[in-house]
Amino acid sequence: MSPRRLVRVEVDGGARWGELRDGEVHDLRDGPFGDPAGRRGAPLGELSRLRLLAPAAPSKIVCVARNYAAHAAEHAVEVPATPLLFLKPPSAVIGPGDAIVLPPESERVEHEAELALVIGRRCRRIDEAAAWSAVLGVTCANDVSARDLQRAEKLWTRGKGFDTFCPLGPVVVAGLAAEAIADLEVACTVNGELRQRGRTSEMVFSAAALVSFASQFMTLVPGDVLLTGTPAGVGPLTPGDEVIVEIEGVGSLTNPVRAEVG
Ligand code: MG
Repeated sequence: MSPRRLVRVEVDGGARWGELRDGEVHDLRDGPFGDPAGRRGAPLGELSRLRLLAPAAPSKIVCVARNYAAHAAEHAVEVPATPLLFLKPPSAVIGPGDAIVLPPESERVEHEAELALVIGRRCRRIDEAAAWSAVLGVTCANDVSARDLQRAEKLWTRGKGFDTFCPLGPVVVAGLAAEAIADLEVACTVNGELRQRGRTSEMVFSAAALVSFASQFMTLVPGDVLLTGTPAGVGPLTPGDEVIVEIEGVGSLTNPVRAEVG
């Protein structure tokens, strides 16, 4: 089956799932989590005329620290023997084009370009061999991090959890084989300057290994998002910046950056 390109768009003030074909968005009336050959409804319009939303509404966002050795090295920390997971709150999610807001509590907010998995079906204690079958598809993410707070505080809840600290999108590429995402370039540019460039083949724990590991202690449900870690090159964001996460064959996620206005 060829990959499908799924989007969430704003229609009449609400969110609707659609499938992108030839620049046009077709309503997915039953949502994206059922039968992939399921009902495809009427056209919702041309993509260029619709407002794209984050292509998931997760109950939780599962993230992994130090999943690229080169990124662990730039923070002078070891790669862990088992995946080191943390959560971002669903309230951190924003869509393509939405602003990353720099909070006054931090003097150093950084970008982290990451491949994101969108979970497609409920699973608990799924083994690694079966884990990919629980993934709907992949999209681009930015694990925005208040690095000074993250360093100063033992728990990362605040440093990783501010509103707007989880840009996602623009498209979920669904129906891929696990091998198809095993060696993709992950890049980040800020104002056109290349900051990060790595490959998913450098991940310490594979996408399937991460899904399986997370599911050993929490039930993953459709729409949950798992961020797979960032390559080396993370750096600061300042007001007025434009940050782009680009993943080969997946898409390009652009967000402006601004300061929080009190
Ligand atoms: Mg990260």
